[in-house]
Amino acid sequence: MTIDEDVHAISPYFEVRQTAWGGRACFSNGNIPKGTTVLKVANSTGISISYEFRKEVCHNCFAYDNARTMKYKLNYDCVKNLIPPDANCKINPKKFLGAGLWFCSEYCRSSYLQKPNIIELVECYELLLCHFPNMLKRYNTDIEQENKLNSISISESIIQSAWDEIESNWIPRIDHMKPTKKVSQLPAISEDEYCCIRFVCESLFNLKHMERQCITYRAFNMLQSNELSKISKFPVLLHFQKLVFQTLYILLPSHTGKMLTIPLLRHILGTEYGNAFGLWQEGEAAESREYFGYWVFPEASYFNHSCTPNVTKYRKGNIMLFNVNTDIKKNEQICIDYSGVLELPTVKRRKFLADSWFFDCACERCKSELQPVH
Ligand SMILES: [Zn+2]
Ligand SMILES: [Zn+2]
Repeated sequence: MTIDEDVHAISPYFEVRQTAWGGRACFSNGNIPKGTTVLKVANSTGISISYEFRKEVCHNCFAYDNARTMKYKLNYDCVKNLIPPDANCKINPKKFLGAGLWFCSEYCRSSYLQKPNIIELVECYELLLCHFPNMLKRYNTDIEQENKLNSISISESIIQSAWDEIESNWIPRIDHMKPTKKVSQLPAISEDEYCCIRFVCESLFNLKHMERQCITYRAFNMLQSNELSKISKFPVLLHFQKLVFQTLYILLPSHTGKMLTIPLLRHILGTEYGNAFGLWQEGEAAESREYFGYWVFPEASYFNHSCTPNVTKYRKGNIMLFNVNTDIKKNEQICIDYSGVLELPTVKRRKFLADSWFFDCACERCKSELQPVH
């Protein structure tokens, strides 16, 4: 059975199908020789660079130079010509902070700024950056509170009623306030929420400007959300998501704010769990490379996992490549490794997969390794 035409044609080499055992999988259209690139993706919907690397990683090519701060940041001169003359842009020329964007070279900085409408995203990042120190100052790690939030037992209806509360009480209350009063309602947040808020900003920005017919947009809409599994495991995330929403609702300028709805935020975050790819340092061995954060490529999210994958994924600058590492026959399932821990013993490896991606691996290798020894 072929699934929706929508994601059927992600690559000429394979087809996404609904499987008899549930879920979707990628199957080869013909024999594929070893070394073939079956998918190359450059259009991520959102990227999150963790706080500790925010100045050390280039925001265009993700270069990293041994924890050195990247040399090129944004200044007002770089962005002033991008501001449309009639725009009610909230970027303050005298106090421009650089939107938290750092680059390895002038080339990367100008490439980044060439993206159409990029000034909208720069404005969102800048507003967040201006308010963040104050929000962070009010944040205190309250272990007791966190334990309490983590002990709630989660169900679909608990998640729904938390959002209903926001929709029917919090939003109308905020909507009635004057702008200055609104800002005083910004919640206290930590570095983790800050990074997640940037990730959502970028996702909203990219989705806003994407052709509704393009494959990335359609693949994004069809991604499976792991909201319930993830929040059931970490109930504190429900509170975390509400803080992310509240901050965005108060801060976003209308061009991007009009994209923000509760269902879309839940889809962005629910599909990030389990579908995002790690953004790793390039060119280092798996054990010694740094983990910078994560990014989402909807077209690349239909590969299943196998502990003997026939496709290897790797990053080259800001693109991800998926290369066949063995000859593949027609109709064979194409799989990648999600875990990065294939060398772990069977039980540990399967536990890691179950904890992080919410499934019990049933690949050929797991099946054969789990067989009782006679
Ligand atoms: Zn760069
Ligand atoms: Zn397995």
